[in-house]
Amino acid sequence: MKIVAVESHVCNARMRNWIFVKVVTDQPGLWGWGEATLEWHTRSVIGAIEDLTPLLIGQDPTRIEYLWQRMYRQHFWHGNGIVRGTAISGIDIALWDILGKSLGVPCHKLWGGPVRDYIRLYSHLGGGKMEDFYQTDPTDSSRFAELALATVAEGFTAFKTMAVPETMPLEGLRPIHYAEKCVAAMREAVGNDIDIMVDCHARPSPRMGHLFATALEPYGLYWFEEPCWPETLDDIAAIQRAVRTPIATGERMVGIWAFRELLEKRACSVIQPDITHCGGLSEVRRIAALAEAYRVSLAPHNPQGPVSTAASLEFGFSAPSYIICESVHRDVPWRQDVCTESYVVEAQGRIVRPGDAPGLGVEINVAEVAKYPFQQEAPMESFYADGAVGDW
Ligand SMILES: [Mg+2]
Repeated sequence: MKIVAVESHVCNARMRNWIFVKVVTDQPGLWGWGEATLEWHTRSVIGAIEDLTPLLIGQDPTRIEYLWQRMYRQHFWHGNGIVRGTAISGIDIALWDILGKSLGVPCHKLWGGPVRDYIRLYSHLGGGKMEDFYQTDPTDSSRFAELALATVAEGFTAFKTMAVPETMPLEGLRPIHYAEKCVAAMREAVGNDIDIMVDCHARPSPRMGHLFATALEPYGLYWFEEPCWPETLDDIAAIQRAVRTPIATGERMVGIWAFRELLEKRACSVIQPDITHCGGLSEVRRIAALAEAYRVSLAPHNPQGPVSTAASLEFGFSAPSYIICESVHRDVPWRQDVCTESYVVEAQGRIVRPGDAPGLGVEINVAEVAKYPFQQEAPMESFYADGAVGDW
């Protein structure tokens, strides 16, 4: 079997352009789907995939590790940046899909078989802007409570929210009280049996991240995510030691070496590698093995398209420390039109995989994808009150 083509199919899904990677073989009807979605860098990723393609054409697609090593180590630059992270990931995911299909088994069976019966899902409530909240009534925290109750009514037993607003490197009590009020309202609304996660999007400075983590500790968060930049690992570790709340991070980290440092510092309780950026299914499995030695949980970052979700689920069915899958279901109403998925969402906010659909169990409808061509994503800009640049 040989690879004869590597195609990129872009599908504009409102907030982001999904990049589906199709690796085509010389066997009739046998191809693999990967995903390499990277917001605001779509054209760069497609170019990177084109640059890697000469390493793949004519090669045996089932030699996945050999091809991963070639993509990463050859061409001298160790597949840095967009190449190392996203382009290799998208191709690698597609190669695993081909291997599963060629053998007629789901990918998780290639990795030792299923270790669980279902995968728990969580939804995302949004948030992140104090202005949204204070536009109505400064004493009114009902908006977050309403969103929380609505998602629980949909069947979810866990949800994430950006209740921590963007702040300057140092601010006074106002944002701290805002975050505390939002989380208190949600906890009061849903009770103690529902898991609440708060994502800071790595916007706070280390000191503000510490203050937020301390203020929210009494509310028993399932995890507190990216309290400060991933470039400040020692500070994330200090926050993890300062509070009982499990700290989660890692969605912007690429390669096993970044996660080795994170784990060696005991900086978090949950790692969140993004399978479409960290180096694909090959690399996330290596990262998971490393995390196993530290007894750290896995909750891959997954806000992208359906192939990313399929990859996360296949990985989750095989990885003992995988605890929960990020679920996106309201990005575009036609999400189910562009793909056929072999998994089923159950009413209890969890997902099962009936049957033995081979590979990743997802097929992309190219004709539907073509209806939503590339569009430049809207700029996501953030500025502090004084006009200085902030993090989105
Ligand atoms: Mg996050």
